[in-house]
Parts: sequence; structure tokens; C-alpha cells
Amino acid sequence: MSINIWHPFTQHGLGEPIPEIARAEAAALYQADGTKIIDAISSWWVQTHGHCHPRIVSAIQEQSTRLDQMIFAGWTHEPARELAAGLSDFLPESLEHIFFSDSGSTAVEVALKMALGYWHNRRESRQKILVMEHSYHGDTIGAMSVGARGVFNQAYAPLLFDVGTIGFPEAGAEQATLDQLETFCKDSENPPAALIVEPLILGAGGMKIYGPEILAQMAAICRDHDVLFIADEVMTGWGRTGTVFACEQAGVEPDILCMAKGLTGGVIPLAVTAATDPIYQAHYSENRAQMFFHSSSFTANPIACAAANANLAIWRDEPVQQRIDAIIASHLAFSDRLKQKSNVSGLRQCGTILAFEIDDGAGDYMSSLGPQLLAFFRDHKILLRPLGNTIYIMPPYCISSVELDAVYAVIEEAIDHFRDC
Ligand code: PMP
Repeated sequence: MSINIWHPFTQHGLGEPIPEIARAEAAALYQADGTKIIDAISSWWVQTHGHCHPRIVSAIQEQSTRLDQMIFAGWTHEPARELAAGLSDFLPESLEHIFFSDSGSTAVEVALKMALGYWHNRRESRQKILVMEHSYHGDTIGAMSVGARGVFNQAYAPLLFDVGTIGFPEAGAEQATLDQLETFCKDSENPPAALIVEPLILGAGGMKIYGPEILAQMAAICRDHDVLFIADEVMTGWGRTGTVFACEQAGVEPDILCMAKGLTGGVIPLAVTAATDPIYQAHYSENRAQMFFHSSSFTANPIACAAANANLAIWRDEPVQQRIDAIIASHLAFSDRLKQKSNVSGLRQCGTILAFEIDDGAGDYMSSLGPQLLAFFRDHKILLRPLGNTIYIMPPYCISSVELDAVYAVIEEAIDHFRDC
């Protein structure tokens, strides 16, 4: 019997090729025959400093010979303590408590459970979760429940819980979103427990951008009505939007913040859900029934924590912000070139992320242009994975100007190719 590998978000029935990668370095993946593929989406938005960064690699090597894995319920270890201490340089002061899990989805599940546990333990009846239209928070049942409904989760609809949805704050119509949020928050019959948002940019929902002033106003409305504000910084965290966390740009201190992906530099899985003291205190008691009931076998895996500590050291010691600023400037210049293209629309940038649509008359995730673009980029040795007809670039910060120019050139070629064909 041979066992077949079932790939994520892959329709095997279409028989598309699944190329194999043998090694990676900095902003590139290499096939066994030496073919170089430029990683223009940071390997699904996780890599920040580049593949196989020597400091992260050696931290993993060193830690794995000393303490590989241990239970984290009732026991602790130095890499986790070091990480908690180190994160205090990066997080708002109000986020005094961190809880470990393994992925962005679990960080979100933990956040939702913390929010509901907070109200439950305070004996206040608040169960409704508010979400933003077009959001994506992960693929587990809870995370899907607070994300957009569509073809991705139609089959599981009976399992998803009800939420209150506010509209995406489209440019010029932001007040409508704020008004909707306020109406939900004022509902004394069914007061919300929390609002969860992707700050500044909705990733999988189509790289949709809204301004820091709207983020700040949403947080203020929540605060005024005691509704917990959850920032899902799984994608936006660790520099993607130009600052370490997107919330910084709005001066927002969320009640709960989720991070994963870039926490270890994107090398191995680790997630953190950070929470304020009142949320921790709502679970702190001599009553065992009030503890926070969440765990997974690999919670705070020491090797993953060591990788995260190396990530923090890189942020402290290397010119990471300069690298980010160079990408931001380079994208801006490329945008000017894209503005000349007749079949490009919706050009937008949020920090190191540049996105736009290629007009194809259909325009959603299932657009037939998506797979054609994917194949075009694969054939041109660039790792880009359009969301339907939305093309976006989200490179690791170590990408060289030569590599970035090569990515831009192939994108321009694709734009012209799909206009002419
Ligand atoms: N939240 C956001 C905003 C994300 O972009 C993602 C993943 N793309 C997740 C949560 C889920 O993270 P993971 O894939 O690590 O479970």
C-alpha cells in the first residue's frame, strides 16, 4: 500500500503539479536541481527574517540537545520564562499575561475562550462575539465561526456558532461600520462579549485595508461599552504592516492579542495569546472550576520558545526596521509603475504588503484567473499565491533589491500577459 499526501487548500482532482523543494536560504527556496524560487509571500506569511536564519537555526540546535519537550501544566522552563520577559519589550504594558499554543487558529480559539471565560467567571451573561465582514481567523471550528462564511466552510455551517457581523469599513463609508458596532454594543438584551478584528488589513479576505483611525475608533467604542477588544495579529504581527504590531499605529492596546507565524521568525510553530490583568484575574481563584481550561500537548515547546527568543534577539540587534522601510519604499515606487497598467485596479499598500486586482470581470477567490496566475508565477520561479484575481506581495524582510525587482518584473509580465490573452 502506498500512502498519498493530502495537501492543504489543494484540489488534487485538477492534477496541478506539486513541485518539491529541497532546501531554503534567506528569501529563496531551492529545488534539488538547484532551481531558485523567490519566496515573495514569506511561505504563507510566516517567514520574517528569511529562511534558515543562522541565529534561529543555532538556537533550535542548541535547545534541542538540552530540553526538547515537556509538559507545561504545572511545570515551567527557562526558554518560556525568557520569552515572557522578552515580549514585554514589544507588547503594550497592559498585556501582562501570555498563554502559549501552537498556531494562529489555536491562538484565536484561546482568545475566544478567554473572553467567554472572563464574562462567565464574572457571572455576567455575555456570549455574543462580534466580527468584521470578510475576516479570516483560522480553520478550526471556533476560528471559522468568527470568520467570513463562504465556499470554504459551507460544508461545516451546521457546526459554526452565530456571531454579530459589522461591515468592512470601506473608504468613505467607515461611519456605517462604527454605527453598526455601536448598535451591537448598546444592545442591553444581548450585550456582546468581544469584538475580534484583524487590525489594519484583512489578509485571506482579500488584503483589504482600513485606516488606523477606524481601528482606534472601534477600540474606543468597545471600551465605552465594556466589550472586550481582541486583535488578531497572527498575520499583521512582527513587522508586516510597518510596525511590530499593527495596533501600535492606532495607539490601541487590545484586551487580548493573538500572535503566531512571525513569532519564531516563521521557522517553527508557536503561538501566544496575550491578555490584560482583568482577564487573568477573572480566572484566578482558589476554585479549580474557574481555571482556564485549555491545553495542548506541545504548549510552550522549549525548542519553539528558543526559536522565538532568537527572533526577539534579531529584532533587537539587527536593522530589521531598516529592511522593512526599504521594502515599503520599493513597493511605493513599483506602485507608480502599476498605476500605468489599464487592467490593474484597487492598488493598495499596508507596510510591506502590496496588493491589487487584475481585472477579469469576475473577481472573487474562485476566479478562474487565480489558478492561471499561480501557474504563471510557478513557471517563472516566483512563489506568489494570488487570492482569486487579487495579487499581493508579502516578502521576508531580508529580500534583496535584485530579488524584489525580479518579482516586480514577473508581475508586470503577468499583468500584460493576462491583458493580451
Ligand atoms: N488569523 C489570521 C489573521 C491569519 O491570517 C491566519 C492564517 N493565515 C490565522 C489566524 C490562522 O493561523 P494558522 O494557519 O497558523 O492556524
